[in-house]
Amino acid sequence: MPDINSNTRLTGLIGTPVSQSYSPFIHNIAFTTLKINYLYLPFDVSEEKLEESIQALKTLHFRGFNVTMPHKQTIMKYLDEISKEAELIGAVNTVVNEHGKLIGYNTDGLGYVWSLQQENVDLKDRTITLAGAGGAARSVAIQLALEGAKKLILLNRTVEKCHVIASIIRNYVPDIEVVVNKLTPDKLMEAVSESTLLINSTPLGMYSQKDKSIIDDVTILHNDLIVSDLIYNPHQTKLLMQAEDRHCKTVNGLGMLIGQAAAAFELWTGETMPVAHVKNRILENGMLNEIKK
Ligand code: NAP
Repeated sequence: MPDINSNTRLTGLIGTPVSQSYSPFIHNIAFTTLKINYLYLPFDVSEEKLEESIQALKTLHFRGFNVTMPHKQTIMKYLDEISKEAELIGAVNTVVNEHGKLIGYNTDGLGYVWSLQQENVDLKDRTITLAGAGGAARSVAIQLALEGAKKLILLNRTVEKCHVIASIIRNYVPDIEVVVNKLTPDKLMEAVSESTLLINSTPLGMYSQKDKSIIDDVTILHNDLIVSDLIYNPHQTKLLMQAEDRHCKTVNGLGMLIGQAAAAFELWTGETMPVAHVKNRILENGMLNEIKK
């Protein structure tokens, strides 16, 4: 726990629920490790109280805060400026208070790309299959396009959601090819056969459904394929185990969790988060098994 005094700079999280968030642990460990005078606090904020809560954080000179469900979209109308990524994604997860001016960012996609870079995965000119088209997929897909991927194949149970993401990407990154299909075993096999990165952004494989995977037939996982799961609990999902059995390189979701936090941390403090230390502390604490749903 950092020493708290009148110079302590405040950061935090607003959303509902916030009780299961890893962010207070991650940021407070990082502040303490770097011995910088900051503190991170979670606040359970209902939709009705969003506007006045933002005003309160501003009045109390919070340096910034994270935003989680259900406020990632609605908060945008209360901010003074929005970054390009956040505008394209249509959601904000990090706010910086620059002397009373609130600036919104989205670090989810940046955090994901950072996690791939940590594993020496270059995105330029890759063909990528992304399964799922929810909030996380949207951030990731847009960031992958901005990072120079050659082709994105978007697959989802509800295919209309892929079309929405595809049209945003085609508008802003016209060089990329975007293909949309329903998430079926056949379409997945077809997409994976021409891809060098497969990403799962569905909840299949998370703690409450850890025996599930988007893949039934493991033979579609070829040697050149990198397999990545956004799920971080468990950090070794069934999909990643299938991929390892097929000798594919794998990337789990813990890197994205830490990466999105590290990007917010840097925006608030100007410092680099001690990510290796934070990751070790999460694993040591056994936090990943505490969350059962
Ligand atoms: P979301 O907005 O609820 O979207 C979930 C997506 O998964 C939707 O596209 C949904 O399809 C699909 N889906 C749900 N159940 C399915 C099923 N049984 N079969 C096939 N598709 C199914 O969730 P999200 O926020 O994008 O999160 C998705 C995953 O990413 C979660 O596991 C979450 O833990 C993980 N995540 C990780 C991080 C990180 O930092 N590592 C950050 C955010 C999220 P429909 O559109 O048809 O409903």
